[in-house]
Amino acid sequence: MKASRILALACVAGLILGPNNAAAQFTAACPKPDPKEIAASPPGDDPMTWVCEATAKKPVSNALHWMRNSAEYKALTEAVYADATRAAERAAKRYGRWGFIVIVDADETLLDNLPYQREREICGLAYTEASWCRWTNEQKAAAVPGALAFITRVHRLGGLIAVVTNRAKAEEWVTRENLHKDGFSYDAIRVTESEADKTARWRSVTRELAEVARKLGRKGAAPKALIWVGDQIGDLPKLDGKGQILGARDQSDAGEGVGINLFLLPNPEYGGWQKSPDQ
Ligand SMILES: [Mg+2]
Repeated sequence: MKASRILALACVAGLILGPNNAAAQFTAACPKPDPKEIAASPPGDDPMTWVCEATAKKPVSNALHWMRNSAEYKALTEAVYADATRAAERAAKRYGRWGFIVIVDADETLLDNLPYQREREICGLAYTEASWCRWTNEQKAAAVPGALAFITRVHRLGGLIAVVTNRAKAEEWVTRENLHKDGFSYDAIRVTESEADKTARWRSVTRELAEVARKLGRKGAAPKALIWVGDQIGDLPKLDGKGQILGARDQSDAGEGVGINLFLLPNPEYGGWQKSPDQ
């Protein structure tokens, strides 16, 4: 068989993918909405999409309105990233090129999923795996204000960047594509197999980046994970006096280190609580 014929067949079979058609080929296989979700869909809405098509739409919450439409939210995310940038500049001075690692969360840290949240709210629906998967497949999450300038600056300073997210394994490819479309570059990524706790992934990604630094030509000590950025307390670690990772924080933890080397972005739209809201 001629080479051109083999190539044509391979393209038809989806085996050879250019950058433009790759997204269409490598979407996650999304679960079907369950019967409860279908029953909850308001009149006019198609439960097979993430977009709300209900004939009567509900108002959005103040939390979502604030994140999407206030000067304060944008000013705060940019200020947090400006603080994190100063921490990276200090780290670069002390540890040198390829000498430090920045660990960032993805959702509501790098990626803005508020359009998805809006569609759920105006249809009066909660998060579901089926609808979330359809949203992430479209790779439409924009960059959180301040995030792209921070990531770009860290790389210019010689820092290494790890994205550690609780997006599912099935969503890894579309997440990588979405980050790429927004202009984010990173050196390693960890999604979750099922566990929400990020401790093991922080440790494994630090080991991976030590190898990356060595290959890049770093001669000195292995790079240290020094800076974390997230929008949930569990995106931040508990560290011992030497900066070793002890585990992930939870709602019982204090904010020690927040604003110094650990950075939290505002997110009133979802997350955990110290106590239930009526207590
Ligand atoms: Mg997040």
